[in-house]
Amino acid sequence: MWVMHNISRDHIVYSLDRQHAPVLAIDPGERIVLETWDARSGTINSDADLLLRPHPVGSNPATGPIHVRGAEPGDALAVHIEAIDLAPSGFLAVKKGEGLLAARAEEFATRIVPIVDGTVHFGDLRFPAHPMVGVIGTAPAGEGISTGYAGSHGGNMDNKHIGPGATVYLPVTVPGAGLVLGDVHGAMGDGEITFIGLEIQAEVTVRVELQKGNGVRRPLIETADHWVTTGDGESLAAAARLAADQMVDLLQARLGLSFEDAYMLMSAAIDVQICQCCEPGEFPVTTRAVVSKGILP
Ligand code: CA
Ligand code: CA
Repeated sequence: MWVMHNISRDHIVYSLDRQHAPVLAIDPGERIVLETWDARSGTINSDADLLLRPHPVGSNPATGPIHVRGAEPGDALAVHIEAIDLAPSGFLAVKKGEGLLAARAEEFATRIVPIVDGTVHFGDLRFPAHPMVGVIGTAPAGEGISTGYAGSHGGNMDNKHIGPGATVYLPVTVPGAGLVLGDVHGAMGDGEITFIGLEIQAEVTVRVELQKGNGVRRPLIETADHWVTTGDGESLAAAARLAADQMVDLLQARLGLSFEDAYMLMSAAIDVQICQCCEPGEFPVTTRAVVSKGILP
């Protein structure tokens, strides 16, 4: 018999940290609906609400943490993203002097953006929503890490593949895992170049399984059609290299290939892509490498 849990958006954190007390304990296999705040915790409600600093509440809240009974270092969580139900509207924004085009961003600006029946309404323009989870991760073994950053624990990966139907495999490095999730985007272009996706409140339904002794060292994502490795780093080159490094290991392990064969296969058929590079050189970059299930079932 499965149990359904609900965590309200009253239970948020701004870091992934083993010191945070869990707001819920579950058994593996259980289903949870997590209410998530937008990236500014509900403080942006009109085009007049600008992203001025310092922010009074904090930015990039994540809901949780969730304690998974029986989870121990060396295990993995398999987090199935079953559904992302978006609020009726979110926001896009420009912060003066920030983002990939920081030198041209001379003014603050905010746009409240409705999403109606899965379609984004940006002024007169219409395009499909693409719900995704920006922040998902487990508590690191050492010091806590801000929800603004990504790493081997997950965190602020801003990976468009983490949407409905995806499974995210996360390393467990502390007892109980300390799973958090937040920063849902109604849509985001790769790069997230202003620093701000289409930030929106949501209800995310997940089912969390525990894989004893899985040994995964970094987040790995499975979708209906792809396997996706993850990278992050101080430069685009470092982050791309890390995602590629994870992918060559995955191909060797799962397909029984030599390094040279896996490396050649990558050069022919695997895409290394940008997730977030809003301020390369100043803010860590996140990346992914993507292989079709036609090659890696
Ligand atoms: Ca983010
Ligand atoms: Ca965001």
